[in-house]
Amino acid sequence: MAGLMFWRKKDKNVQAPEEIQVEQEIQVVAETEVEQPVEDNLTEVVIEEPAEETVLETVVEEPITEVEIPQVELEPIELPKRSLTKGIKSLFSRIKFDVENLEELEDVLIQADFGVDAAEAIVQEVKNRAKKSGAKTESELRLILTDLLTEKFGRDDRALKLDNGVQPYVILVVGVNGAGKTTTIGKLANWLTQGGATVTLGAADTFRAAAVDQLETWATRSNSEIVKPTIEGQDPAAVAFESVERAIANQSDVLIIDTAGRLQNKQGLMDELGKIRRVIEKNLAISEVLLVLDATTGQNALAQAKAFTEVANVTGIVLTKLDGTAKGGIVYAIQEQLDIPVKLVGIGEGIDDFGFFDASEFAIGLVGES
Ligand code: GDP
Ligand code: MG
Repeated sequence: MAGLMFWRKKDKNVQAPEEIQVEQEIQVVAETEVEQPVEDNLTEVVIEEPAEETVLETVVEEPITEVEIPQVELEPIELPKRSLTKGIKSLFSRIKFDVENLEELEDVLIQADFGVDAAEAIVQEVKNRAKKSGAKTESELRLILTDLLTEKFGRDDRALKLDNGVQPYVILVVGVNGAGKTTTIGKLANWLTQGGATVTLGAADTFRAAAVDQLETWATRSNSEIVKPTIEGQDPAAVAFESVERAIANQSDVLIIDTAGRLQNKQGLMDELGKIRRVIEKNLAISEVLLVLDATTGQNALAQAKAFTEVANVTGIVLTKLDGTAKGGIVYAIQEQLDIPVKLVGIGEGIDDFGFFDASEFAIGLVGES
């Protein structure tokens, strides 16, 4: 299932691919071609090419990325499974499903933040499918709705990008104050360490001492290392830089960086996140920029998402506090309007209260058991 695996280098002393020269790469491919069954496809291409000068030139001219992967033997680490269903508040437990009269369903969908147009379209489609199949009973209608929502929520780009073997993987976490960034980082770090990964946390929310303490508590709970500001109010970018250095030195598998969520003007936010980004990217690629949104804030979460996606290169959404709200339709609205996958969901304040978003599980949770 998406998001439950990450890949790391088997031998941690092997140099990262981008640090190895092209000539070395070609030699390594030749030496190891027989012993690397996993990379058969890639090495075979090299073997099959006739050893003529022109071909050799082509190989050298290939972008480095094409020959990188066979260098490093990767091992998959399976991470503990997380299920959403129990934490999601059902939207429809109170309403009566009646094929002739689905107005109430439309109201509930609107209240759940699907948006008026989407709610109307969903009800229409439920009617169409019911007509086609002759469905009449409440449980038949619930099933149709569950299937339809599963389709509507469906995307295939939800897995966290922790699979190219170039480590430490860096996850930058952004979002307004109170959205649940630090809590999410704690949960994520714990999940990773439980799976055998080593994690460093960067406390780049330097504006409040309490924010650093909070992250430190999560670092202890999750068995992660933490890099803290050396002075109060230190430049967040300096902490981010230090975190990168430490994560590399420690050979951490994953580095997760917390940021401040001050509501500020767009330029200020852009400058601050831009600077953090630049210092990280001096040494490491950023695997994920996760935007944390509080689902209970409904349409406001959507407005925040728009603001952040304009200034940060957001790769995934974390939707928190879905345990306390019947506004799960915001997932649909965000994905539709921003074309960014919801990757993680927060369903409580506890360390295990989160899940990887799964369209089918989520739809079942919202619609409830038939
Ligand atoms: P940050 O300012 O973005 O770092 O937000 P915090 O991580 O400090 O969280 C703000 C509050 O929301 C805290 O009281 C958390 O316990 C709470 N919180 C975070 N995620 C969830 C969640 O999924 N469900 C619930 N019920 N509370 C959450
Ligand atoms: Mg915080």
